[in-house]
Amino acid sequence: MKALTWHGKHDIRCESVPDPVIEDGRDAIIKVTACAICGSDLHIYDGIMPDMHGGDIMGHETMGEVVEVGRDNSKLKVGDRVVIPFTIACGQCFFCQRGFFSACERSNPERSRQKATKMWGNSPAGLFGYTHLLGGYSGGQAEYLRVPYADFGPIKVPDGLTDEQVLFLSDIFPTGYMAADFCNIQQGDTIAIWGCGPVGQMAIRSAFLLGAERVIAIDSVPERLVLAGATGAITLDYREEDIYERIMELTKGRGADACIDAVGTEADPSASWDSRIDRIKVATFMGTDRPHVLRQAIHCCRNFGTVSIVGVYGGFLDKIPMGSAINRGLTFRMAQTPVQAYLPVLMERIQKGEIDPSFVITHRAGLEDGPELYKTFRDKKEGCIKVVLKP
Ligand SMILES: [Zn+2]
Ligand SMILES: [Zn+2]
Repeated sequence: MKALTWHGKHDIRCESVPDPVIEDGRDAIIKVTACAICGSDLHIYDGIMPDMHGGDIMGHETMGEVVEVGRDNSKLKVGDRVVIPFTIACGQCFFCQRGFFSACERSNPERSRQKATKMWGNSPAGLFGYTHLLGGYSGGQAEYLRVPYADFGPIKVPDGLTDEQVLFLSDIFPTGYMAADFCNIQQGDTIAIWGCGPVGQMAIRSAFLLGAERVIAIDSVPERLVLAGATGAITLDYREEDIYERIMELTKGRGADACIDAVGTEADPSASWDSRIDRIKVATFMGTDRPHVLRQAIHCCRNFGTVSIVGVYGGFLDKIPMGSAINRGLTFRMAQTPVQAYLPVLMERIQKGEIDPSFVITHRAGLEDGPELYKTFRDKKEGCIKVVLKP
């Protein structure tokens, strides 16, 4: 089959690889009908995620049609249309029983668990197409995908919904929704959101769905700000305005009730003096991440407000203003999304027409155009906000 494979920094190729096979009775194989390139794939593309191996298959936002099921899998049958959550979860372990599916104790295999534990103190769940720290599973930017624990994770697509309407249930819609959910939104609340990429866009719409009165959306890419503004959000361009000053002005000097960091580790190094220093630290191996957005979100959050973090960080963050956070009583919420926990409610919202997540798609292509589109997406060229590939 054809698949997008990783061969080093900025080197993604579309090449022929062996077809996946059933390895466990609970597995299923799907024929991929649509998959997407995610902002967190760019961390791999940019070579900053450790423990990728040459030839690893990329991708964790995938859906398709079941073509084969393992002997112990009675939930799926050939021909079912399913969306595959990016977090792999067994559905039975200590964490899965509590709904913390992105911390499944079984899906990250022993060797990866050991490495993750060394780095983070313990191991989260395995993920599709996301390094050998997290299982080294083949990803779904391919013609076929093996889905482990397929009798638990995938959600069947009801008749009448298109691939594009449901594909983002695999990651960015639940992730953006969780970001807003973490904010415990009350009537009259103002939610500030850094990053108007695909997850940020989902977070903006989710914040309104959950009752926010005002959303302040922060980015610098014109087409992203336009898309954010179309929801009624107040848009701020950090290259043009002082974000802290503007948020204080908009909130009577109190700050936003909750602040969402939908940027993560690769904050724009030209955004401020501290992000320039972060870039130097990362380049000289004196730091692992560029947490400029997180620092600013903390300062812009009102006393006893919530900072919700869904942008991905990898390691040890420098100069986080904990003095500000503790003296002003901030709450921090963050996670890799336990996707399965959100799927039923979000599928229902799509079915009811409350949201159509396909609004974010700007580019559609075949797999062979994938390598070029990684670059287009990363460089934010051609108005690119979200790429969907149809193998
Ligand atoms: Zn993703
Ligand atoms: Zn589990």
